[in-house]
Amino acid sequence: MTERPARRPQHPSRTVACPHCHAPIGQPCVVPSNGRPLPNPHEARTPTPTTPAQTGAWPPKNGDAS
Ligand SMILES: [Zn+2]
Repeated sequence: MTERPARRPQHPSRTVACPHCHAPIGQPCVVPSNGRPLPNPHEARTPTPTTPAQTGAWPPKNGDAS
C-alpha cells in the first residue's frame, strides 16, 4: 500500500487536447504563432474550475433572495 504515483503527475489539463492551440493529449500547450511550449495550459483547456454551469442543478443560494 505504498504505491506512489509516477514522478511528475501529469497535469489534469493534459488529459485532453487543447481546443485553443490544438496541443495533443499529453503535450503541453504551445504558442500557436511560434510553437513555443507554455508553462501553463490555456484556459480553454483547463476543466471548469469552480464556476458551475447555470443549469439550475447547483445548490441554491440560501439567503440570496431579496
Ligand atoms: Zn493550448
